[in-house]
Amino acid sequence: MKIISINAGSSSLKFSLFDMNDETVIASGLFERIGIEGSCYTIKYNGEKVEEEVVMKDHTDAVKILLDKLISLGIIKSLEEINGVGHRLAHGKEKYKESVIITDEVIEDLKSFTDFAPLHIPANILGINAFREVLPEVMMVGVFDTTFHQSLDKETYLYPVPYEWYEKYGVRKYGFHGTSHRYIAGKVKELLGKDEYKLISCHIGSGGSIAAIKDGKSVDTTMGFTPLPGIMMCTRSGDIDPSIVPYIMGKEGKNAGEVFEELNTSSGLLGMSGYSSDMRDILARCEEGDEKAITAKNKFVRSVVNYIAQYYVLLGGVDIIVFTAGIGENSVPVRKQICEELECLGVKIDPVINEKRAEFIKLSTDESKILVYVIPTDEELMIARDTLNLINR
Ligand code: AMP
Repeated sequence: MKIISINAGSSSLKFSLFDMNDETVIASGLFERIGIEGSCYTIKYNGEKVEEEVVMKDHTDAVKILLDKLISLGIIKSLEEINGVGHRLAHGKEKYKESVIITDEVIEDLKSFTDFAPLHIPANILGINAFREVLPEVMMVGVFDTTFHQSLDKETYLYPVPYEWYEKYGVRKYGFHGTSHRYIAGKVKELLGKDEYKLISCHIGSGGSIAAIKDGKSVDTTMGFTPLPGIMMCTRSGDIDPSIVPYIMGKEGKNAGEVFEELNTSSGLLGMSGYSSDMRDILARCEEGDEKAITAKNKFVRSVVNYIAQYYVLLGGVDIIVFTAGIGENSVPVRKQICEELECLGVKIDPVINEKRAEFIKLSTDESKILVYVIPTDEELMIARDTLNLINR
C-alpha cells in the first residue's frame, strides 16, 4: 500500500511517499518556484538526492514531473502502485470535524472558506486539482489543520465580542497545527499506555502553537481565528493588544491589511531582534551579548511558559509536556530556559540529555513531578494514515 502526502503552497509542493505496510518514507521532496522563473525540485530516496532545475508553469506540471521521476528513478514501477493521495488542508471551518474523502462538494466548500486562509486554501486547491488531473482514478483525502481543535467547548472557542460576529461571519477560535498535536497525542497515549492523560503539546517551529490535551482531545490551543495569536513566533507577533492596529495605521498611513501583514511577517523574533527570524541566529547573537536578541529570546520563552502555566491550571495538573517542531526539537537553550522557568511546577530536566537534538527523548528526571519529552512531529505520516484509514473504510 503506497500513499503520497502532499502539502501544497502557492508556488511549492512538498511530498512524502509512504509504504504504509511499515509506515516508512520511500521518497520525499520539494518542488519550488512553481510558475516562477528558476523552478526546481529535490527528490530524496534511498540515501540519494536528485536536484534539477526544470520549467514548471503550474502545479499540474509539478505533479506530472513528480510521478514521472518516481518511475524513472525506479522508486515505483507504475502509477498503479499509488493507492491514495492525502492533502494537508489549511481550514475546515466548523463543517469538517475529521479528515474526509475529497469530492466536488469538499472543493466547493474549500473555495467558500478562502477568506479564512487566503494564502493557503487557493494553494491547497491547486494541489488537489493537479492530482485529480494526473491521477483521476486515485482516491484523495483532505486532512485539515483545524479539525483536531473542533473539540474545544463554547466558552473556549468564542471570543468576548458581539455574538453576531460568530453567527454571521464565523468569528471564533479555530486553532491550527491540529495534525501535529494529534500526532503527539497519539505518541503520548502509546508512551503512557493509557487513554486518560493530561498533555501540554508545544509545537514550536517557525510558526508555533501550544495545545492543552485531555484524554486525546484538544481542550484549548493558542492560535485562534487565524494563526497569528498565541505564543510569540519567528515572524508572527502572537498575542498583542488589537488597539495597536488602528494606532499604527494612523501613524504610518497604512491600511489594516498592511499592518496585519507586518504582524504576520515582520514581528516576533524578527521584529524584536531587528535581525533574524531564525532562533539559531538569535541564540548566536545572545552569546555575543546583543541586548535586543536577549530580550527577544526571553520574551519568546516567557510567552511559552505563560501558556504552559495557564494550561496547567485549565487541565487541573499535567502528566506530560512535549516539545516538538524546529525549535522544540532542536533548540537546547530554549528548552532549558523554559523548563527552568517551570521549576515551580516541579519540572526537572536532565541537562545532559537535553543536549540531544531531533530525537525522541525523555528530558525529565525521576524527581520531576511532570514528564517532559521531546517527540519529533510527523504531520506527513498522520496525513498518510488518515488517507489509508479512509480508503480502507
Ligand atoms: P519548523 O517550522 O518546525 O521547520 O521550524 C523552523 C525553525 O526551527 C527555524 O526557523 C529555526 O528558528 C528553528 N531551528 C531549527 N533548528 C534549530 C536549532 N538547531 N537550534 C535552534 N533553532 C532551530
